[in-house]
Amino acid sequence: MRRFARLISPALALLLAACAGTPQRPVSSAAHGAHAPLLLISIDAFRPDYLDRGKTPTLNAMAASGVRAKAMQPSFPSLTFPNHYTLVTGLYPDHHGIVNNNMYDPALGKFSLGNRKAVGNGQWWAGGEPIWVTADKHGLQTATMFWPGSGTVIHGYRPDHFRAYDGKWTPDQRVDQVLKWLSLPAAKRPDFLTLYFDRVDHAGHTYGPDSPQVNHALKYVDDGIARLVAGLKARGLYQHMNIIVVSDHGMASTPRKNITVIDKLINLKHVRVVSLGVVAGFIPKSGYTQEVEKALLGHHDHMTCWRKQNIPARYHYGGNPRVPAITCAADLHWQIMSQANVTKYKGKTMLGDHGYDNAAPQMRALFIAHGPAFRQGAVIGEFPNVDVYPLMTHLLGLPAQTNDGHFSQIKDALKASQH
Ligand SMILES: [Zn+2]
Repeated sequence: MRRFARLISPALALLLAACAGTPQRPVSSAAHGAHAPLLLISIDAFRPDYLDRGKTPTLNAMAASGVRAKAMQPSFPSLTFPNHYTLVTGLYPDHHGIVNNNMYDPALGKFSLGNRKAVGNGQWWAGGEPIWVTADKHGLQTATMFWPGSGTVIHGYRPDHFRAYDGKWTPDQRVDQVLKWLSLPAAKRPDFLTLYFDRVDHAGHTYGPDSPQVNHALKYVDDGIARLVAGLKARGLYQHMNIIVVSDHGMASTPRKNITVIDKLINLKHVRVVSLGVVAGFIPKSGYTQEVEKALLGHHDHMTCWRKQNIPARYHYGGNPRVPAITCAADLHWQIMSQANVTKYKGKTMLGDHGYDNAAPQMRALFIAHGPAFRQGAVIGEFPNVDVYPLMTHLLGLPAQTNDGHFSQIKDALKASQH
């Protein structure tokens, strides 16, 4: 456990506690080494139907001897950072505060994936308590081989072992690091670990979900997981630890002609553009609210825009101060861009994207689990990804913080003796 000085002011802490609800403090049965180690693996943008392409023998074998969901529903917006943080907090993005990959907060400024300073500022993440923080607080050992937020000090804590994100690490290098951590002496061996792969997402964006390049990426990542399974078997661990493999969202094709040029509707000088892409966010500048709302609100040919307070309830989105005043969601297979970006990309826009309606079949995510706690050869129905968090706290004997998930909806993945 590593304790860091608190970085948030008491006033902000109070505000954030009010947003996230007051955490419960049930009795914990967590103790280092008392439960089987839990490894949470994310394969970014892995659609469950990718398992049917014949490229992932290791994952298919893991599903066959473990449990798999027909699909897992991501939270809205079906973007990477919001959903990775949902998986480890059990909170909807609206409740944990990572509401988009690109955000604006009046107190904190701008946030984007490539902005290391913002990503490394714990105040952006303080609306939720990720499971590794709770685990650390209870004396468990934690190790993260990449996960959004895991390199940041959140509520005064960071994992015992972590690696700063570097996309150049190959799947094999990431797997070898996890195996190294699991080879530590019992007193130091992590109880909770993460492992993250991004190659399938990159191929899906660049070439589209049905491309040969995605199939190649599937095999590349599956080979990495085969190396992991072999390494765990060699250490006598494979049957004695619980592994959950998920993705954050799916991927839809985005033909190059399917672009809504936002400048055709509004003068971009009259708004702060918080995000573009599949979920665009705008804050009208002083004096332009009426003009911008008149131009944007409602349904357009390939896009729907709402005031944040009118976003449909099923999205569980719009209550957080970081959700911009106006949110525009592109229709499936469409993207919202500025003319400047269209010019910049010279027609070479991405052929795949996500962020769409989280009920769309193309956005569905993966869920496979394997280990002593899980059923063998079972397939369970679709469930929302907020449920993964209460499943994990159950497995580790940790008190669950206030969350939007339901253990009762996912306990079917466990052997009856593990309920
Ligand atoms: Zn992603």
